[in-house]
Amino acid sequence: MKIGIPRGLYFYVYYPMWYGFFESLGHDMVLSVPTNKTILNLGVSNAVDDICISVKVYHGHVKYLLDKKDVDYVFVPRVVSEDKYKYTCSKLAAMPDLIKSVFSKDADRILSVNMYMNQGRKPLFDAFGEIGRKLGASVKNVKKAVKEAVIYQEKATNCLRNGHNFIEVVRNIRNLDDLLDKPVKERQYKVALAGFPYDIYDSYMNGDVIKRLEEADVRVVVTDMLNPKVYKKYTKYMIKDLFWHQANVAAKGGMYYMDSPDIDGVITISSFNCGIGAIYEKLLDLYSKETGKPLMHIVVDEQTGDAGLVTRIEAFIDLIRVKKGDGLVAS
Ligand code: SF4
Repeated sequence: MKIGIPRGLYFYVYYPMWYGFFESLGHDMVLSVPTNKTILNLGVSNAVDDICISVKVYHGHVKYLLDKKDVDYVFVPRVVSEDKYKYTCSKLAAMPDLIKSVFSKDADRILSVNMYMNQGRKPLFDAFGEIGRKLGASVKNVKKAVKEAVIYQEKATNCLRNGHNFIEVVRNIRNLDDLLDKPVKERQYKVALAGFPYDIYDSYMNGDVIKRLEEADVRVVVTDMLNPKVYKKYTKYMIKDLFWHQANVAAKGGMYYMDSPDIDGVITISSFNCGIGAIYEKLLDLYSKETGKPLMHIVVDEQTGDAGLVTRIEAFIDLIRVKKGDGLVAS
């Protein structure tokens, strides 16, 4: 069967796991194309108005796949939690229902399941078992596929820990062992990106911030590359953990990078209309006042112009250069 995988939201976290599972069961996967104007327009015209742009874009990816008549199912998981007592935002938790109500004619082509991540194998077996049954797989094959899924996700995590970003993981999904061994290119400056992976890695929506920084000889690191152990201590600064796992990663990971001597600056990327983004941005604002590390917020929405983003990214690089005594790019 052909399983459509929308290139949005938790694709940028758990695609390796989904790849390992469906591949092991012998299904073909069809990824939607990276976000472009068509996908954005499809999302904006189909999603409800008062929702964040990341969710609107996701609607566009789902629609793109539903329009492909040879795609049997489009996989829209409901990621409920990612850690014990840490949950996803209400829009993410409601995603399959939102999608099925918007694309009601194709509701039976939406493959959905509740996923509780990072809580051992049992919830994973339950979730994948449900999908496997729907796709006609035997219990034995589902068990094997879940093992593969976990292996792929672990390999991807190792690649991230070694400094490779998630886009490289997607590109090298068949050769993650090779990617792991590949050295990461060092550059003159080092900037950290903090935020939700789907905002950081959607290059169309964020003005291709990673590429633009690399072109200015900046090595880019992302909060998803960090082992949670390194930023655990920052819970103290926040008084208590936030309710949402990815917000904790962005806030505490961002603080960790602000304290890291080799990091020249931190950029947050968030989605317009995201209340959770506003919380971790504020926490990082307060922390940057203590560390003096340059911090910039990029908030993307459907109106964000490429030119405006480019100017802001260039200005941020100039700020770092001046701070380090290297002068402005123009001079
Ligand atoms: S966390 Fe924010 S960006 Fe993500 S889905 Fe929820 S509202 Fe949208």
